[in-house]
Amino acid sequence: TSVFDVVEMAPDDPILGLNEAFKTDPRKEKVNLSIGVYCTEEGKVPLLKVVEQTEKKLAEAGAPHTYLPISGIPAFTSGVQKLIFGPDSEVVKTKRAATVQSLGGTGALKVGADFLATVLKNPEAVVSAPTWQNHVAIFESAGFKVGSYPYYDKKTGEIDFPAMLECLKGLKKDTVVILHACCHNPTGVDLTQEQWAQVVEVCRDKGLIPFLDIAYQGFGAGLNEDAGSIRQFADSGIPFFVSNSFSKSFSLYGERIGALTVVCKSEEEAKRVNSKLKSVIRANYSNPPAHGAKIVSAVLNDPVLLQQWHEDLKGMRERIKEMRHLLAEALKKEGAKVDFSFIEDQHGMFSFSRLTPEQVQRLKDEFGVYAVKSGRICVASLNKANVAYTAKAIKEVL
Ligand code: PMP
Repeated sequence: TSVFDVVEMAPDDPILGLNEAFKTDPRKEKVNLSIGVYCTEEGKVPLLKVVEQTEKKLAEAGAPHTYLPISGIPAFTSGVQKLIFGPDSEVVKTKRAATVQSLGGTGALKVGADFLATVLKNPEAVVSAPTWQNHVAIFESAGFKVGSYPYYDKKTGEIDFPAMLECLKGLKKDTVVILHACCHNPTGVDLTQEQWAQVVEVCRDKGLIPFLDIAYQGFGAGLNEDAGSIRQFADSGIPFFVSNSFSKSFSLYGERIGALTVVCKSEEEAKRVNSKLKSVIRANYSNPPAHGAKIVSAVLNDPVLLQQWHEDLKGMRERIKEMRHLLAEALKKEGAKVDFSFIEDQHGMFSFSRLTPEQVQRLKDEFGVYAVKSGRICVASLNKANVAYTAKAIKEVL
C-alpha cells in the first residue's frame, strides 16, 4: 500500500483539455474558440511593441535578479491605482487603498480570499450565475461557502437584473459579492452604468463586501470606460476589493502579473490591511516575480510608452469588435435560422453563442471548431481567414 492510495484522479480542466485536443486535431481548417487568449489577425498571441522595447531595455541594463519587496514594485502598485481609479481619484490622493502585486488576476483573487478568510467569522461569497469557474474554486479553497446570484438569463440572452438585485438584497451582511467589472466571462454581457449604481447602493445598504474582478480592462469600451464600475464603488466610500490582471491587456499571460487592491476608509486602515496582505503573501510564496512587473511599471510610468500601449489596446479592442461584426454578418449571409446580432452587443473576448452542448459537440466532431460546452466562444480567436468557415459550421449545426 501507499500513502497515496486514497488519492483519486482529479478532473481535468475542461477548457485546457479542449486546447490539448485541438493541438492534436489533424484537420487543416480547425478553429480554436475555446481558450481565453487574444490572437492577432495572423492567429498568433501578440508580443506588444511596448513590451518588446521595454524588454530590450531591461536586457541591456543587465540588472541582477534580486528579490522584490513582498508587496511588489512600488512604481507598479502606484501605477495600478492610477489605472483602475483614474489619476485624479480621491482614493489615490488620500492613500486609502492598499495595493499588492500578484500572480496574475488569479493570484490577486487568492490573496484577497485568504485575507478575507482571516477577517470574517463565517466567510460566505456569491458569484454570478454563470461565472469563471475558478472564482468558486479559489474562494472554496480559502474556506468560503460559495453561492451564486442570478445574472444571465438563458431565455433572453440578457441579464435578469431584477432577480440579481433581489438576491443581493437578501444576502447576509459581510457576504463577499464577486463581480466582473467589465467584459463578463463567460457571457460577454455587462451591466450598464445605471445598473452598477443600483448594485453599489444595495452593497452599501446591506453591508456587503464587493470584490470586483477586472481581467479585461481596455477590451470592452476603453480603459476608463471599463473601470466605470470600480470608480462608482470608489465614489461610494464603502470598502471593496479589486483584482486586476495584465495577462490579456499586455499579452503577458505567462509572466503572471496582476494586483490586488483593497479600498479602505482611511490611510491608517490601508496601512494595517497592507501589512496583513503581506503576511498572507509571505506565507504563500514569499514575494512576487519581477519580470512582468518591471515591464508594466515601465510602461505605466512613461507617457510615451503609455500612449503606445493605449494604441495597442485600441487595436486589440477594435479587432475584436470587427470580428463580432463579421461573424454576425457571415451568419446572416449563411441564412442562419437564428439572429446572431446579439454577438455585436456583447463585450470583451467572449460571447455566449447560445449554442447547446450537443451543437458544440457537433461543431467539434464535424467541423473541428472548438468551443466550450456552455456555448462560450472566444471571439478574439476569430480572424478574416476563419470567420466564414466558423459561420458556415455554426449554421450547419443549428
Ligand atoms: N478573472 C477572470 C474573470 C478571468 O477570465 C481570468 C482569466 N481567465 C482571470 C480572472 C485570471 O487571469 P490571470 O490569467 O491573470 O490569472
